[in-house]
Amino acid sequence: MASLSLSISPNPDRLIDGIFVSPRRQLLRRVAINSSPSGFNFLTKLTSAEKHRRNKVAAVRMSSISPASHSYDVVVVGAGIIGLSIARQLLIGSHLSVAVVDAAVPCSGATGAGQGYIWMVHKVPGSEKWELAMRSRELWEKFAEDIKYQGMDPQEVLGWKKTGSLLVGKTSDEMAVLKEKVDKLSKAGLKAELLSIIDLKEIEPVLVVGEEGGAAFLPNDYQLDARRSVAYIEKENRKYASEGRYGEYYNQPVTGLLRSGNGEVEAVQTPKYSLYSKKAIVISTGCWTGSLMQDLIRDSDIKLNIPVKPRKGHLLVIENFNSFKLNHGLMEVGYIGHQDAILQPNNLDSGAETSSISMTATMDTLGNLVLGSSRQFVGFNTEINEEIINKIWERAKEFFPSLRELLLKDLEKNREVRVGLRPYMPGGKPMIGPVPGLSNVFLAAGHEGEGLTLALGTAEMVADMVLGNPSKVDNAPYALHAHCS
Ligand SMILES: Cc1cc2nc3c(=O)[nH]c(=O)nc-3n(C[C@H](O)[C@H](O)[C@H](O)COP(=O)(O)OP(=O)(O)OC[C@H]3O[C@@H](n4cnc5c(N)ncnc54)[C@H](O)[C@@H]3O)c2cc1C
Repeated sequence: MASLSLSISPNPDRLIDGIFVSPRRQLLRRVAINSSPSGFNFLTKLTSAEKHRRNKVAAVRMSSISPASHSYDVVVVGAGIIGLSIARQLLIGSHLSVAVVDAAVPCSGATGAGQGYIWMVHKVPGSEKWELAMRSRELWEKFAEDIKYQGMDPQEVLGWKKTGSLLVGKTSDEMAVLKEKVDKLSKAGLKAELLSIIDLKEIEPVLVVGEEGGAAFLPNDYQLDARRSVAYIEKENRKYASEGRYGEYYNQPVTGLLRSGNGEVEAVQTPKYSLYSKKAIVISTGCWTGSLMQDLIRDSDIKLNIPVKPRKGHLLVIENFNSFKLNHGLMEVGYIGHQDAILQPNNLDSGAETSSISMTATMDTLGNLVLGSSRQFVGFNTEINEEIINKIWERAKEFFPSLRELLLKDLEKNREVRVGLRPYMPGGKPMIGPVPGLSNVFLAAGHEGEGLTLALGTAEMVADMVLGNPSKVDNAPYALHAHCS
């Protein structure tokens, strides 16, 4: 058994209307112990002595626990933005019942660190991902509209704001790149403008890009708050529990698949539950998907390479920031190159760290200044790296000189650092589709730095596959075999 779980809460899971609810305040008292090669770190809150003691206790308990069985039409593994959106789509778009199972809780993966840009400015018209990104953005717009229609404010519910996006450059070379971008985006039908330094100063006065600088501006790009959006999707999904159509299994790492005599995949196994699926199992476990799949097929003849890798990112959040206001979402144009940087297999194998920082800045709906961002290949490590935080701060100062009047150490009390592992995929596009050799098992992972943007389009695509509906967007580029060719 690669991984097992132990509840150390005096209150066991509460079963409410078919949902296993582990209130967030109990979460620190609930731990899962994992010796899985998947690299999921469940033990960050425990000392090594505690870990040792609990491992022993857990091992004893496991031998006497026989997992309880529950059955659903679809079991979604992973409750990040991708898994929860897939669950939502199946709940609103069909009569199927859905279980969501996560090794920890939503937002413990990349999603909790996401900056929230729902942007087209750095996408390439005509590229393989273009259609999916456009469809996904349209679905987010519709989602926000529906919330408004129900009498709620999408800004409050999702942190949804049409901030517009500014991709900024400082040199004439960067301006040439931005001009080409604006031309292509305009030809593709989007409202896009190239702003000179004078235009830019007018709409974003605190930003300084130098004499030669300017920006590509897409006024119709959006921003959301990833954590608030996840909380709302979870709340909406839970409404289906009273009809017996929804179950939530948190702090339950999936450790195995159960197969019938004829080899069909019937269920996923967690330490406490066997979750049977009548129609489909969807694996949406972000950067853990490659290692999890290897664990799941270990005792079979199936050969599968899911090359997703964790790409660590830090965000620096200065809460209640009142030194200046930003009117838009911002990103330096160098971000595109750093997003597309190809991972050198030698670096990864040797464990050598490759890191890059580029400026992203936004102000969320609560008035927090959110600065990013870093990209590093350092395995599954999620510790805060102060050196990276300092570099993010230094980089931000180059674009916002008024920050030079502030010392980061004086902002300690107002500072939050978010760390997440992006699911990096060589080739830059996610894997979405059935898993060859595993009947009824689908994968949706590898969205790297655009999982929030692509979530609703991905969810629709997966739901259409499960339901046998024609796809709204060409799904061929995302098929598993398309990544191996
Ligand atoms: C700093 C930063 C900034 C970003 N900014 C943006 C942005 O502005 N716009 C944008 O579109 N995207 C952005 N992203 C990217 C986006 O956050 C990710 O692409 C997206 O969150 C991936 O979602 P996911 O559901 O695939 O993975 P995750 O959110 O990582 O979720 C995976 C889930 O799987 C669970 N899991 C793992 N193993 C198991 C197991 N064995 N059993 C059960 N569950 C398991 C984990 O607990 C986790 O909850 C950013 C990311 C970072 C780090």
